[in-house]
Amino acid sequence: MLNFDIQFPTRIHFGRGKIEELAREVLTYGKKVLLVYGGGSIKRSGLYEQLLNIFKESGITPIELPGVQSNPRISSVRQGVKLCREYEVELVLAVGGGSTIDCAKIIAAGTGYEGDAWDFFTRRARITQALPLGCILTLAATGSEMNGNAVISNEETEEKLGTGSPLLIPRFSILDPEYSFSVPPEQTAAGTVDIMSHVFEQYFSPTPGTFIQDRLAEAMLKTCIHYGPIALAKPDNYEARANLMWTGSLALNGLLGAGKRTDWATHDIEHEISAIYDVTHGLGLAILTPYWMYYVLDEKTAPRLADYARYVWGIEGSEDLAVARVGIEKTTEFFRSLHLAGSLKEIGVEAERLEEMAAKATAWGALGSFKKLEYLDVLTILQNAYK
Ligand code: NAP
Ligand code: FE
Repeated sequence: MLNFDIQFPTRIHFGRGKIEELAREVLTYGKKVLLVYGGGSIKRSGLYEQLLNIFKESGITPIELPGVQSNPRISSVRQGVKLCREYEVELVLAVGGGSTIDCAKIIAAGTGYEGDAWDFFTRRARITQALPLGCILTLAATGSEMNGNAVISNEETEEKLGTGSPLLIPRFSILDPEYSFSVPPEQTAAGTVDIMSHVFEQYFSPTPGTFIQDRLAEAMLKTCIHYGPIALAKPDNYEARANLMWTGSLALNGLLGAGKRTDWATHDIEHEISAIYDVTHGLGLAILTPYWMYYVLDEKTAPRLADYARYVWGIEGSEDLAVARVGIEKTTEFFRSLHLAGSLKEIGVEAERLEEMAAKATAWGALGSFKKLEYLDVLTILQNAYK
């Protein structure tokens, strides 16, 4: 295990009715709030109306930024920055899934930065300050509600890039699993896969001696495999939604990756796909993950992939390579049962753009740490996933 420093600064309010904490939390920072939300799900669910009532009763003034899209755009960030400056906003409040939260994070960082917020992604600028941020989560997936990461798309350059800073970690997040009852099946499935992928990216690591992180990771994978199908079959099953929501936060709040080198190659490759084709992040991951697993499987990586097969799927056998292969097949079958598997071709990716995606993904160097992937490796994974 490697040395590490860790802090979990987000106050989590978890459970039914926890919206009761909102006014007190907001008023800690001020009365002027930028309310960031997506394409309308919070209006259909009644949450928006509830928020307006809370604001009215508590003397809070919301300034609204609606319409944040999935794979959030830098143009939405720029709009939000403008509003924060114009109205001297004191807190950015994201209500929705990872896209809304990520957009809100960069608005928070961009408001006090004199250049363009895209600079944080091209490494032209570092995040040195940010407005405080709060979240009300409505979709279990990204873990953005408890971490300092953000992923934003630039529609002009067809790039989707990530950045991160401890300054972007939400001050508080309200996690009421009932808010996720209305998440449609395809997003429930994609969210479950995103959580699993976050676990994989940290579980498949070259660092030895991380028994505790590894057993925690397996427990999270088992939780997704158990409750993902239940949430699909019964969208208002509280236990399923609650377990998925908390797993989503725990999977990417720093806990699993502490003390080890992490991988992130599958995410990096997926971002190249969703940058161009605007596919659902979890669907892209579901297609790529088994191909990444097959590609990286060799004598050196087999023990860890076999651990995954044994401890998560209960596969028996003494030959690591064979056991690992069954674990990968199980993964594919599971994603298929969530109606997510398929090929890149089926989701509209064009063969002639695979080379460009592989080149962009490796533009800043090889991907991954479990097994390092250069341009040709990434291209092969994309080609395998295309067929
Ligand atoms: P999302 O893009 O935030 O939302 C997906 C869809 O679900 C939207 O159409 C949204 O509709 C809808 N939705 C959300 N909550 C709903 C509810 N309760 N009922 C009905 N519909 C609901 O999905 P996400 O998977 O959470 O976020 C994906 C983004 O996060 C990607 O850009 C991905 O790259 C990024 N990501 C970030 C991190 C991180 O650590 N920051 C990690 C992984 C991925 P509305 O727009 O109408 O609300
Ligand atoms: Fe993700």
